[in-house]
Amino acid sequence: MARTLVILKGDGIGPEVVDAALKVLDWAAQKGGYAVERQEALIGGAAIDRTGDPFPSETRALVDRADTVFLGAVGGPQWDRHPKNPESGLLALRARMGLWANLRPFEVFEGMESFSPLARPHLRGMIIRELLGGLYFGQPRGRSVVNGEPEAMETSRYARHEIERVVRLGFQVAQRQGVPLVSVDKANVLETSKLWRQTVEEVRQDFPDVPVIHRYVDAAAMEFVKKPELYQVVVTENLFGDILSDLAGGLVGSLGLLGSATVNGLQGSRGLYEPVHGSAPDIQGQGIANPIGAILSVALMMEWSWGDREPAQWIRQAIRDTLKEGYRTPDLGGHDTTESFTGRVLQQMEQIH
Ligand code: ATP
Ligand code: MG
Repeated sequence: MARTLVILKGDGIGPEVVDAALKVLDWAAQKGGYAVERQEALIGGAAIDRTGDPFPSETRALVDRADTVFLGAVGGPQWDRHPKNPESGLLALRARMGLWANLRPFEVFEGMESFSPLARPHLRGMIIRELLGGLYFGQPRGRSVVNGEPEAMETSRYARHEIERVVRLGFQVAQRQGVPLVSVDKANVLETSKLWRQTVEEVRQDFPDVPVIHRYVDAAAMEFVKKPELYQVVVTENLFGDILSDLAGGLVGSLGLLGSATVNGLQGSRGLYEPVHGSAPDIQGQGIANPIGAILSVALMMEWSWGDREPAQWIRQAIRDTLKEGYRTPDLGGHDTTESFTGRVLQQMEQIH
């Protein structure tokens, strides 16, 4: 069966890491005996340059017909003064696809311990971040001038159903892995968090076998560092998830090691897959970007949108083995290029399979 994929390479190192990841996808597809139909479109700064719009109508039309979208990265300093900003294209894309859960698995690979004094080898977990609510979208928001002084404001807002669906997903993931669900909020202070915690308590009735750990976000930040092994499946609202998933990035040693999936339900859902890192304009065009985040995003895509769990495992194992053998890009202190590292991963996949 052919699978269709819309590819949005974006800006900076986006095209470089996407090209690397697509080689891995091609390999897996060939082994799996299916074809991947790809269509490419513009987003972010590249789209602004060509069409004046960070999320142009042609891209919108393609995305509306697609279940699976693979994205590189958007943004860069050259658009800082532009009236339209590249990141707004990404926000519009997520909202358009109706994707409300951002999954960020993290894993400390062997040999990476030196990049983070806190990292424990083989540590693994997943942050599930609500993506369409909270401070990022609540109205009213904006700037004003009060008594001659500039003011700014935003609003955090959540409806119960918006909390329930992501919390339910958290329970499903925790249940499948046989681990507790850690729910992070600030229910001692915030109304949205009180509703969050109440909803978790209600949904847990449907998952009597899943232990629940409630944590305030401040306490969670500390404990995540001290006892990361407790944080195997974490579910939280938009802003807290943004912060905690970068913390997880620090824990594993580099944001370049993380992939992400943005979905609207359990496996088989629509999805947007992208590395967690940004467009890294400082190393753009040098061919040295670390492709691991993008390659892991391919594994997530195969698993979550297509239900191909086995090839996803091969990809992860190949990355572990390649790092274990000492190959790495300069961000991890190595001398590999994006291309040579990806070549090594492909060789490992040949061996595993
Ligand atoms: P954004 O606003 O898009 O998140 P950012 O500036 O916060 O961007 P990145 O673009 O991720 O963050 O870059 C942060 C630093 O990490 C930069 O020095 C960049 O070179 C480095 N970096 C990010 N991704 C990679 C990668 N895949 N390989 C190597 N270095 C990377
Ligand atoms: Mg950033």
